[in-house]
Amino acid sequence: MTAKPAAAAARATVYGYPRQGRHRELKKAVEGYWKGKVTADALTETARTLRRAHWQQLAGAGIHEVPTGDFSYYDHVLDASVMVGAVPDRHRAAVAADALDGYFAMARGTQDVAPLEMTKWFDTNYHYLVPELGPDTVFSADSAKQVAELKEALALGLTARPVLVGPVTYLLLSKPAPGVAADFEPLTLLDRLLPVYAQVLADLRAAGAEWVQLDEPALVQDRTPADLNAAARAYRELGTRTDRPKLLVASYFDRLGDALPVLAKAPVDGLALDFTDAAAANLDALAAVGGLPGKHLVAGVVNGRNIWINDLEKSLATLGTLLGLADRVDVAASCSLLHVPLDAALERDIDPQIARWLAFARQKTTELVTLARGLSQGTDTIAAELAANRADLASRANSVLTHDPAVRARAAAVTEADVRRSQAYGQRTVAQRTHLGLPLLPTTTIGSFPQTDELRAARADLRAGRIDTAGYEERIKAEIQEVVSFQEQAGLDVLVHGEPERNDMVQYFAERLTGYLATRHGWVQSYGTRYVRPPVLAGDISRPEPMTVRWTTYAQSLTERPVKGMLTGPVTMLAWSFVRDDQPLAQTARQVALALRDEVADLEAAGTSVIQVDEPALRETLPLRAADHPAYLAWATDAFRLSTSGVRPDTQIHTHMCYAEFGDIVQAIDDLDADVISLEATRSHMQVARELAAHGYPREAGPGVYDIHSPRVPSPAEAADLLRTGLRAIPAERLWVNPDCGLKTRDWPEVRASLESLVAAARTVRAELPTS
Ligand code: GLN
Ligand code: ZN
Repeated sequence: MTAKPAAAAARATVYGYPRQGRHRELKKAVEGYWKGKVTADALTETARTLRRAHWQQLAGAGIHEVPTGDFSYYDHVLDASVMVGAVPDRHRAAVAADALDGYFAMARGTQDVAPLEMTKWFDTNYHYLVPELGPDTVFSADSAKQVAELKEALALGLTARPVLVGPVTYLLLSKPAPGVAADFEPLTLLDRLLPVYAQVLADLRAAGAEWVQLDEPALVQDRTPADLNAAARAYRELGTRTDRPKLLVASYFDRLGDALPVLAKAPVDGLALDFTDAAAANLDALAAVGGLPGKHLVAGVVNGRNIWINDLEKSLATLGTLLGLADRVDVAASCSLLHVPLDAALERDIDPQIARWLAFARQKTTELVTLARGLSQGTDTIAAELAANRADLASRANSVLTHDPAVRARAAAVTEADVRRSQAYGQRTVAQRTHLGLPLLPTTTIGSFPQTDELRAARADLRAGRIDTAGYEERIKAEIQEVVSFQEQAGLDVLVHGEPERNDMVQYFAERLTGYLATRHGWVQSYGTRYVRPPVLAGDISRPEPMTVRWTTYAQSLTERPVKGMLTGPVTMLAWSFVRDDQPLAQTARQVALALRDEVADLEAAGTSVIQVDEPALRETLPLRAADHPAYLAWATDAFRLSTSGVRPDTQIHTHMCYAEFGDIVQAIDDLDADVISLEATRSHMQVARELAAHGYPREAGPGVYDIHSPRVPSPAEAADLLRTGLRAIPAERLWVNPDCGLKTRDWPEVRASLESLVAAARTVRAELPTS
């Protein structure tokens, strides 16, 4: 195809860039500052150097306007709270005393003051700090950070576009401050907030911004008419100011739906829309409103969340259909590049034949520039890039890694019977009771025990070659012995081996499955200074050999009580990895599930009677729009059942979930058909037990009675009280006693005392049960 001349002005742009630096310099500087080892000046200087390097990299690659203000010491939503003066009362003194220390106090809390709550940024693995607002909130404009970063970029001779969290999204992401009525709606503060945004926009224009970007990803979620009215009002109000820069309203992570006509009509100068597969509906919706006459369209055609190279020809075709629909079409990634690692070229350990399929932030930037050039100057000007891209895509499509015939044949042969236990719960529970002989209110844990310094040292010694594999395994076995003997002494009923061999519940399995890749430098920000390196689901998944059996059977050899096998479920494996974009998620999930099914079978054959398959991420990958929930939940529950349904009736399948409210997916939890589920419940005082009961959940459940996110040791009386609360919702025959989650982040003295309380509580409450 040849591009039309109307596209002559097409430019490449990005909304945000990874903040950390090649060597995670930002993490080191911020954590050094917290420890008092790095001065405030040195931290400021590190930040400035990183910003400059990133901008110059972007500009050097051919990006027209570099983003500013997207940089953050901790979180860009917290920065927005500072920008609008929404500092919680409890932090005001600290902020007044020292702005930087006050900022970190809001983020992390201090001895005496609690931090802001943290939660997931839409359906990504990034977490933001939730603004706390109330009827008494008084906003005030503080544009200092935004203006300073803009001036920094302009001083380097660059063209820059400040990026701000938009006012509607800001309010929709907020929650009532402590002490404010729970039904308070932050969106009612819009009229108070808009003048503050108007002031910041005026300040940015005065400082030299031609364009400012306002991010409104909350508008891709299901919104009420009132929300949409608020969006219309917000952009009418801001758009009709005379002292403003040009406004680009950006949406990403999904289609805009009903919000599209609202924004299309608003008196703003440009809209940014997601045009990746997930948001393909934006194309039709845009045509349906007659395009964006008089406005700029920024087209997010390169996926900003995955790590795969773009299909350039496909993107050019999409861009081609957009050309007539707006005054100008610019080319962008679908969202900020914050969600991908910095540079795939650093991955020297990955086979070059596979590395050519990868595009991190830096490679995506190059793709954007290539696409903009092809669009404005004709595709002949990018002939070489297109040829190389075609070859790379073909190499991926034809690779044995992505097409293992055995795996494909097996996945295709899955039948309804494979996702069904051989007996209904009513029958198999009887078999399990006989087989396991557990008391009422059985006690157990979620899997991990403390990851001690010794364990970390053992792993480091193994990596550095100071010990060999045999030496390492001796240390792991010693730890398992200790964990088992403690659990016996404490009087727990179903034991675990403690997971000492696992650094991470996804990575451990990823390293043992064919088709998974690990990166060395693929860090992405999870929150604050915490970065994770998600493994890459690159090819068809198979299991060359058992992954956990020897550790579980070793633990079982040390005790007469049942030891629970411990696996990470297929949905969580996908949620915490980079997933394939060349096949549906359902298919990837099915392959992972089949590998896990084999592991479950091997555990059972080796004498394991209780097997737990953790799915803590089941709730968090729920799609943003309700219309997409059923399809997701269908493949997610199918994958779980495929991994767990091959066992005998008397083998007990457990699952575990945490970090989220589960009320809205109780049906899906029920559909998993697990015999026992453990859930986080302590802080909500067993709310989830009441939700399960209200649903009529028919199987066994262990709502947590020990809050493992806190160093506090619960007393036996407290734990017993929670158990009695649980018993009001779930009958004793179906109630388990366990902590909220794994114990790996706690230390041994806390864990010992807490589990002793838990066992004591179970004994006390058992004695209170009526004898039949
Ligand atoms: N079995 C895991 C553990 O105990 C579960 C972790 C989780 O739910 N996040 O650590
Ligand atoms: Zn958990």
